Amino acid sequence: MDLEFDRRHIWHPYTSAINPLPCYPVVRADGVMIELEDGRQLVDGMSSWWAAIHGYNHPALNAAATEQLGKMSHVMFGGLTHQPAIELCQRLVEITPEGLERVFLADSGSVAVEVAMKMALQYWACQGNQSKCRFLTLRNGYHGDTFNAMSVCDPQTGMHSLYKDVLPRQLFVPAPQTRFEQHWNEDDVAPLADMLAKHHHEVAALILEPVVQGAGGMRLYHPQYLRRARQLCDEYGVLLICDEIATGFGRTGKLFACEHADISPDILCLGKALTGGYMTLAATLCTEDVASGICQGQPGVFMHGPTFMGNPLACAVANASLALLDKGEWRQQVESIEAQLKAELIPLRKLENVADVRVLGAIGVVELHQNVEMAGIQKYFVQQGVWIRPFGKLVYLMPPFIIRPEQLSSLTGAIAGYLSN
Ligand SMILES: *Cc1c(COP(=O)(O)O)cnc(C)c1O
Repeated sequence: MDLEFDRRHIWHPYTSAINPLPCYPVVRADGVMIELEDGRQLVDGMSSWWAAIHGYNHPALNAAATEQLGKMSHVMFGGLTHQPAIELCQRLVEITPEGLERVFLADSGSVAVEVAMKMALQYWACQGNQSKCRFLTLRNGYHGDTFNAMSVCDPQTGMHSLYKDVLPRQLFVPAPQTRFEQHWNEDDVAPLADMLAKHHHEVAALILEPVVQGAGGMRLYHPQYLRRARQLCDEYGVLLICDEIATGFGRTGKLFACEHADISPDILCLGKALTGGYMTLAATLCTEDVASGICQGQPGVFMHGPTFMGNPLACAVANASLALLDKGEWRQQVESIEAQLKAELIPLRKLENVADVRVLGAIGVVELHQNVEMAGIQKYFVQQGVWIRPFGKLVYLMPPFIIRPEQLSSLTGAIAGYLSN
């Protein structure tokens, strides 16, 4: 592969154009393994950013894509509809928390978040309430890279200073402090309660990642926070948007992280694992109340419609992925991964360079005291035959659900090896 061209001409995520770190050339991926051009095989610890839950090159997903390709890869969704989209939306309405009845198919997670935020704004505007036009969120959150999504990302890790004159100014409360496994402390929700008491008249929605804050810090918090957030939103007339783009489809041990608290949001964002990591597709679901609230006013329609909305190829693969989840094996798989991550990562807490270890479902996080040295750690992991991509102080695993115990041990072993070197 022409890696020199890649270096000179292609942007990679969050990467310098002047002095980029090396990229490893991949020729294929199968199951849990990623194969490099030189033949080296890496055990995948990332599921391609929360997405490839069933592993790569899956026969059922391949078959769904191939079959759909023979019919049509895409038709416009304006004025036309098709079975792959209908089937997908039926499944989503059925499996997501109760009350979410309307599905908007979007083309990426960030767009799904934009759609959710626009829904909330248009909902209040159509009720004749022009003052509810800000969003409230938690620090340490991550909701995507487009402008409105960025505005509700953590101000520090989200680099708000870079765009401060153009980003909408939102309201932030501290991230929940009570850990998932700790006893609930009601003081934890006081900042949210205070903020809502003071600002509810200008807040369209509270947006948060339920239970697991992903790219903004890989934090896990107590489900009771979510339950209290739901109650407070109801009390103050504020919509609740749950961003389950990372947590959806089994990653936390429940099909959706909202189930840890047994709540339903007014608006739900899905993405990442929706197609089992095959292609980009996302969805924003809302309640009938939100949908009809938007459409009762002027202009009477929801103002969004991406070119590739409802892409049949992506929907067909998503349907195959959901059919795999429907078999239920993921529950046992995620439970086993959780037990093994706890057994093999928690002992790392005693290392001097380790600040914290956190595990929930198929997510394992080792937080260090210092930022990792990316070039060095990446090279070390590849030499060890694993694909793990840390950021900042966080070295974390979210493997495909189909990973075998010895493969998972090679991931945790590589982390342990690096930290004790
Ligand atoms: C990844 C992510 C997004 C953005 O999704 P993209 O498909 O990358 O645009 C939004 N919210 C959360 C919680 C995410 O993890």
